[in-house]
Amino acid sequence: MEFRQAGQKWFIRIDRGEEVLETLAGFCRQQGIFLGSISGIGAAGQITLGLFETATKTYKSTEFRGDFEITSLAGNVTTKNSEIYLHVHATVSNKDCQAFGGHLNMAVISGTCEVVVDQVQGGIEREFNEDVGLNLMKF
Ligand code: FE
Repeated sequence: MEFRQAGQKWFIRIDRGEEVLETLAGFCRQQGIFLGSISGIGAAGQITLGLFETATKTYKSTEFRGDFEITSLAGNVTTKNSEIYLHVHATVSNKDCQAFGGHLNMAVISGTCEVVVDQVQGGIEREFNEDVGLNLMKF
Protein backbone atom coordinates (compact mmCIF):
# COMPACT_ATOMS: atom_id res chain seq x y z
CA MET A 1 0.00 0.00 0.00
CA GLU A 2 1.15 3.48 -0.83
CA PHE A 3 -0.60 6.79 -0.51
CA ARG A 4 -0.43 10.51 -1.04
CA GLN A 5 -2.32 13.22 0.78
CA ALA A 6 -3.95 16.03 -1.20
CA GLY A 7 -5.70 18.46 1.11
CA GLN A 8 -8.34 16.57 3.06
CA LYS A 9 -8.26 13.70 0.60
CA TRP A 10 -5.97 10.70 0.67
CA PHE A 11 -5.22 8.76 -2.52
CA ILE A 12 -4.36 5.18 -1.66
CA ARG A 13 -3.07 2.34 -3.81
CA ILE A 14 -3.71 -1.10 -2.32
CA ASP A 15 -1.49 -3.74 -3.89
CA ARG A 16 -1.77 -7.37 -4.94
CA GLY A 17 -2.28 -9.75 -2.05
CA GLU A 18 -3.40 -7.05 0.37
CA GLU A 19 -6.81 -7.22 1.99
CA VAL A 20 -8.84 -4.04 1.53
CA LEU A 21 -10.52 -3.56 4.94
CA GLU A 22 -7.47 -4.54 6.97
CA THR A 23 -5.28 -2.21 4.91
CA LEU A 24 -7.69 0.73 5.12
CA ALA A 25 -8.31 0.29 8.86
CA GLY A 26 -4.57 0.21 9.52
CA PHE A 27 -4.09 3.26 7.33
CA CYS A 28 -6.82 5.26 9.12
CA ARG A 29 -5.41 4.27 12.51
CA GLN A 30 -1.91 5.31 11.48
CA GLN A 31 -3.02 8.67 10.06
CA GLY A 32 -5.55 9.43 12.78
CA ILE A 33 -8.52 9.50 10.40
CA PHE A 34 -11.63 8.96 12.54
CA LEU A 35 -14.28 10.34 10.20
CA GLY A 36 -14.58 10.36 6.45
CA SER A 37 -15.96 8.79 3.31
CA ILE A 38 -14.41 6.03 1.21
CA SER A 39 -14.69 5.48 -2.52
CA GLY A 40 -12.72 3.21 -4.78
CA ILE A 41 -12.29 0.89 -7.73
CA GLY A 42 -9.97 -2.04 -8.40
CA ALA A 43 -9.59 -5.73 -9.09
CA ALA A 44 -9.90 -8.55 -6.58
CA GLY A 45 -9.44 -12.32 -6.67
CA GLN A 46 -11.13 -13.25 -3.43
CA ILE A 47 -14.17 -11.43 -2.09
CA THR A 48 -16.66 -12.06 0.70
CA LEU A 49 -19.90 -10.13 0.49
CA GLY A 50 -22.63 -10.10 3.08
CA LEU A 51 -26.32 -9.43 3.31
CA PHE A 52 -27.88 -8.37 6.59
CA GLU A 53 -31.02 -10.40 7.12
CA THR A 54 -33.31 -8.10 9.08
CA ALA A 55 -35.64 -10.85 10.39
CA THR A 56 -32.84 -12.87 12.03
CA LYS A 57 -30.50 -9.88 12.55
CA THR A 58 -27.64 -11.88 11.13
CA TYR A 59 -25.30 -11.55 8.18
CA LYS A 60 -25.37 -14.14 5.40
CA SER A 61 -22.04 -14.09 3.64
CA THR A 62 -20.91 -15.49 0.31
CA GLU A 63 -17.34 -16.00 -0.84
CA PHE A 64 -16.24 -15.52 -4.44
CA ARG A 65 -12.98 -16.57 -6.06
CA GLY A 66 -11.78 -15.68 -9.54
CA ASP A 67 -11.26 -12.48 -11.46
CA PHE A 68 -13.49 -9.61 -10.44
CA GLU A 69 -13.52 -5.91 -11.11
CA ILE A 70 -14.39 -3.86 -8.07
CA THR A 71 -16.65 -1.51 -9.97
CA SER A 72 -17.52 0.46 -6.87
CA LEU A 73 -16.35 0.61 -3.31
CA ALA A 74 -18.41 2.97 -1.15
CA GLY A 75 -18.29 3.45 2.57
CA ASN A 76 -17.39 5.50 5.58
CA VAL A 77 -15.00 5.79 8.49
CA THR A 78 -16.45 6.29 11.96
CA THR A 79 -15.57 4.92 15.40
CA LYS A 80 -16.97 2.39 17.83
CA ASN A 81 -15.62 2.53 21.39
CA SER A 82 -13.15 5.11 20.00
CA GLU A 83 -11.70 2.47 17.62
CA ILE A 84 -11.69 2.95 13.83
CA TYR A 85 -14.82 1.36 12.36
CA LEU A 86 -15.17 0.93 8.61
CA HIS A 87 -18.49 0.31 6.93
CA VAL A 88 -17.96 -0.50 3.27
CA HIS A 89 -20.16 -1.87 0.51
CA ALA A 90 -18.88 -3.17 -2.81
CA THR A 91 -20.23 -3.82 -6.26
CA VAL A 92 -18.11 -6.20 -8.31
CA SER A 93 -18.39 -7.54 -11.86
CA ASN A 94 -17.36 -10.84 -13.44
CA LYS A 95 -15.99 -11.83 -16.88
CA ASP A 96 -19.42 -11.39 -18.42
CA CYS A 97 -19.61 -7.88 -16.95
CA GLN A 98 -22.40 -9.00 -14.67
CA ALA A 99 -22.42 -7.03 -11.45
CA PHE A 100 -23.48 -7.96 -7.95
CA GLY A 101 -22.67 -6.56 -4.58
CA GLY A 102 -23.20 -6.35 -0.87
CA HIS A 103 -21.70 -5.50 2.48
CA LEU A 104 -17.95 -5.96 2.15
CA ASN A 105 -16.49 -8.47 4.59
CA MET A 106 -13.17 -8.88 2.85
CA ALA A 107 -11.48 -8.51 -0.52
CA VAL A 108 -7.98 -9.58 -1.49
CA ILE A 109 -6.58 -7.48 -4.30
CA SER A 110 -5.39 -9.27 -7.44
CA GLY A 111 -4.47 -6.31 -9.63
CA THR A 112 -4.66 -2.98 -7.90
CA CYS A 113 -7.17 -1.01 -5.89
CA GLU A 114 -7.45 2.77 -5.99
CA VAL A 115 -9.17 4.28 -3.02
CA VAL A 116 -9.86 7.89 -2.09
CA VAL A 117 -10.53 8.61 1.58
CA ASP A 118 -12.10 12.01 2.10
CA GLN A 119 -11.22 12.98 5.65
CA VAL A 120 -13.57 15.10 7.72
CA GLN A 121 -12.69 16.72 11.05
CA GLY A 122 -14.45 15.41 14.11
CA GLY A 123 -15.86 12.00 14.85
CA ILE A 124 -19.04 9.99 14.91
CA GLU A 125 -19.41 7.08 17.31
CA ARG A 126 -21.43 3.96 16.70
CA GLU A 127 -23.51 2.04 19.17
CA PHE A 128 -25.11 -1.36 18.86
CA ASN A 129 -28.87 -1.08 18.45
CA GLU A 130 -30.69 -4.16 19.74
CA ASP A 131 -33.85 -3.42 17.77
CA VAL A 132 -32.08 -3.29 14.43
CA GLY A 133 -29.20 -5.59 15.27
CA LEU A 134 -26.59 -3.25 13.81
CA ASN A 135 -23.98 -0.77 15.00
CA LEU A 136 -25.77 2.49 14.24
CA MET A 137 -24.32 5.99 14.09
CA LYS A 138 -25.03 7.84 17.33
CA PHE A 139 -25.86 11.58 17.09
FE1 FE B 1 -23.41 -2.77 5.39
